[in-house]
Amino acid sequence: MPSRIWQMPNDQDKLYLTLDDGPIPGLTDWVLDVLKERGVKATFFCVGQNIKRHPQLLERILIEQHTVGNHTFNHLNGFETPKDIYLTNVEITDNALADLGVNTDLFRPPYGRLKYSQRKELGHKRIVMWDVLSKDYLQTLPEEEVLTETVKATEPGSIIVFHDNWKAEKNMKYALPRFVDHFLNKGFKFESL
Ligand SMILES: [Zn+2]
Repeated sequence: MPSRIWQMPNDQDKLYLTLDDGPIPGLTDWVLDVLKERGVKATFFCVGQNIKRHPQLLERILIEQHTVGNHTFNHLNGFETPKDIYLTNVEITDNALADLGVNTDLFRPPYGRLKYSQRKELGHKRIVMWDVLSKDYLQTLPEEEVLTETVKATEPGSIIVFHDNWKAEKNMKYALPRFVDHFLNKGFKFESL
């Protein structure tokens, strides 16, 4: 039974930025530019169907030395999906990644929802959850609030979730660069998982 990772053990000033749901043109490349300008590394939990549609973006993530993880092929909700269908969906995403030369044991269940029976079968994976959810996808939340609440919740070793999906565009594009700058100015380092 793989245990779930919520935070990295850390007595230093390291943070672990994660981006879920890409790769999507107009978003993932925008995020990559932000990270590149600042020399920051992150981990991208990618959806298999987006990998298939936009392999060149996946390749850019790799070339720029970020880490890639599996986020299922169709962004499935584990609570609502039978075990065999769920596991196949994870596997075909691994295959899509393997086609591009990626072999990863990192997995993040969409919505954080994974049944015990599903988790039991994912023994070959490191299941990465988070301790800080930016809520960038809540479109009614003011972007300033997304930023201040995410900053407030972050501590050394935190795993922080932002989204490179369209729902999160407004809040993510506001909060992500400001969040990174805030912690870089405080002397923190961003590392990939
Ligand atoms: Zn997701």
